[in-house]
Amino acid sequence: MADNAKSITVSIVTPDGQVYENKTPMLIVRTINGELGILPNHIPVIASLAIDEVRIKQLESDQEDDEIAVNGGFVEFSNNVATIVADSAERQNDIDVARAENARKRAESRIREAQQKHDDAELARAQVALKRAVNRLRVAHR
Ligand code: ATP
Repeated sequence: MADNAKSITVSIVTPDGQVYENKTPMLIVRTINGELGILPNHIPVIASLAIDEVRIKQLESDQEDDEIAVNGGFVEFSNNVATIVADSAERQNDIDVARAENARKRAESRIREAQQKHDDAELARAQVALKRAVNRLRVAHR
């Protein structure tokens, strides 16, 4: 490992290909156990991610953070390279807000129906779909 590196390389990949690659002085992810900030020279980490945003600080401090909506998956960090592997991930500007709104409404009506039918498996699926939609809306509207 290079001593005292000033940046880390972040790569976000999905089954559709690479969504993001950049160098950053700090990466912030939400793991299933809580928020994790990764700075250069951090010890190796592997962690499961929540359906949430990944925030990537810019090397130029006057520039806004990059925000990516990530649908679960995991992060692996070693030797100043962070790789995030997720089922899907969208950069803030690539999020289709109307589509996410429709997905949110669809998920909410599925949740109501599943509750009426006491269908726990469908309820759990619909709740995850709702999380994906709400996460996209939150990241897009920032
Ligand atoms: P939908 O019901 O709208 O398809 P979903 O949550 O079921 O939403 P996913 O299965 O997570 O969608 O993703 C399928 C593909 O569509 C992925 O490539 C994902 O990045 C993309 N995608 C899903 N929703 C959006 C959105 N609102 N804007 C941009 N891309 C999206």
